[in-house]
Amino acid sequence: MKTKLIDNYGRIAKKLRVSVTDRCNMRCRYCMPKNNTKWFDDSEVLTFDEIVRLSSILVSLGVEKIRLTGGEPLVMPSIENLITSITKIRHIKSVGLTTNGLLLFDKVEELKSSGLESVNISLDSFKDDRFRIITGVNGLTKVINSIHKAKDAGLNVKINMVVVRGWNDDEVVEFANFARRTGITVRFIEFMPLDGTGEWRSELVFSKKEMVEKLESNFGKMFPLLGQDISTPAELYSFSDGEGTIGFIPSVTEPFCNQCDRIRLTSDGRFLTCLFEN
Ligand code: SAM
Ligand code: SF4
Repeated sequence: MKTKLIDNYGRIAKKLRVSVTDRCNMRCRYCMPKNNTKWFDDSEVLTFDEIVRLSSILVSLGVEKIRLTGGEPLVMPSIENLITSITKIRHIKSVGLTTNGLLLFDKVEELKSSGLESVNISLDSFKDDRFRIITGVNGLTKVINSIHKAKDAGLNVKINMVVVRGWNDDEVVEFANFARRTGITVRFIEFMPLDGTGEWRSELVFSKKEMVEKLESNFGKMFPLLGQDISTPAELYSFSDGEGTIGFIPSVTEPFCNQCDRIRLTSDGRFLTCLFEN
């Protein structure tokens, strides 16, 4: 029988998240402190060859999908070379990337030709000043242009919005309208206590239940999509007219740990079974 990666709870690892760098060109209030300067030395960070080697081993042990993340993966020069190598691993099913979108616009074609299939782009506000307050940079137009360019290039694009009470929960309906207008799936994520900024408080968590109430009072009843992959963290819904798809990642109020099939490789080569692991 083929060896698989099965943990003590019987969960089988099928997805790998690789953090290719700890560095980032943003300072999101829910993630990274403004004065963060303690980076790994280059010598501590996995090389692309090491990432490909580890990925190959993990694919031979049953991992099917790999997603590159960070920090911000697009700050790594020539990331497309890494993607090309990973897509060549025998039996791999797909390679994706999660990015803040700031450097994406000029890289879309290279990424598409490297074999990248999907890109999740983080966006928390459509308001310029609010975007700057949340991320620490002026870049809303760049990110929105990147989203459209990536979609037009044929990449499978999804938007990740971290919803924080009092910061951006009043934009949930606008994001759903964006999903309906563009056909791009928007996934609403609850604020998790993962921040290096010390900002997290339970009162700031805008729950999935509250998001659903807000959306249904505006759009009417929503319906869970049939036949969705239960191992993905997002529960997908559509509206009564069938226009648009949205998803919820309710990691705080409705944790889905029992169905989790992902493992993580940190940029300094540590292997984690959970985001909350030290
Ligand atoms: N820099 C890339 C980006 O922002 O898309 C990739 C790395 S980022 C850590 C991956 C995802 O985690 C993003 O969608 C981000 O919004 C989300 N995230 C970061 N901190 C979070 C938190 N405290 N709670 C919930 N989601 C968070
Ligand atoms: Fe950077 Fe992504 Fe964290 Fe924002 S969420 S600070 S873009 S790593």
